[in-house]
This record gives sequence, C-alpha cells and structure tokens, in this order.
Amino acid sequence: MEARRQRFLFGEIGLFKVGCFGFEENLWGDGEKRVFVNMWESPALLKVVAFAWRVFLNCIPTRGNLALRNVLPSDSSLLCALCERVEESALHLFLHCGVASLVWLKLILWLDFWFLIPPSLFVHWECWSLGGRSKKMVKGLWLFWHTTI
Ligand SMILES: [Zn+2]
Repeated sequence: MEARRQRFLFGEIGLFKVGCFGFEENLWGDGEKRVFVNMWESPALLKVVAFAWRVFLNCIPTRGNLALRNVLPSDSSLLCALCERVEESALHLFLHCGVASLVWLKLILWLDFWFLIPPSLFVHWECWSLGGRSKKMVKGLWLFWHTTI
C-alpha cells in the first residue's frame, strides 16, 4: 500500500508528471496533503482512486480546462453540461452542481449523517473521513465517496 501511495502523491505517476494548469506541490496545505496521502488507503479500485486524484488536481477535461488549453472552438459554451448555469469545472461537476449536490444529499441522508456541502473537494473528503467511528468504518465511507465520484 505504501508504494501505491508514494507513486501517486502530488502530481506524479511513476515517471510521468501530470500537466495541470496551476499545479504546484508547494501550493498544497497540510489538509490537502493529508487527503492526497489518505485517499490511497481507500478500498476502492485503483482506477477509481486515480480518477478521484485527477479530480482533486483539476486535471479532468471539463469545459473550463479545455478552454484554458484552447481545445474548444471559441464560440463553445463553457457552461456545465448538467445544469447549464455555471462554468464547468471539476469542483462544480462533482460537488456544487445541483445534480451532484442532490446525489451527495441522498447518500448523506441514507447513511444518516449530516454536514453542509463544503467549498472544496478536499474539505468534502475530510468530512467523510470524520464520519467513521473506527478505521474500518472510515474506509467504508471512503469507498462510498469514491464510488459516488
Ligand atoms: Zn452544473
């Protein structure tokens, strides 16, 4: 597990560096670094955890990211494909979009614990990490989190 965790910390996969706009390891605080370390202990499939890692790094092809890389035609809409209200970003798609919020809300109610949708995915992960009474329960909550992402 330690080797798995080490390979994926802070923007590197083996010999490859992830090219993200604005990504610099020094920008991360202790809370974000804790998430990057702990997320690899999740019992979710490795490819699911790796996808979540890319979401945390904002390295998924959202309309906002594609526009930054000049991939989209200049007349393309940058609005969220689900709600068409806000520019599409990883944070919006997976946390703040009305569709995503509804999914999180139903899951939170089903699990019978409660917290407000926080302003960042890192804080959201930490809220799920605090929901368990034991390490085994926390890992179960992380599995729910990864499955939902
Ligand atoms: Zn939306």
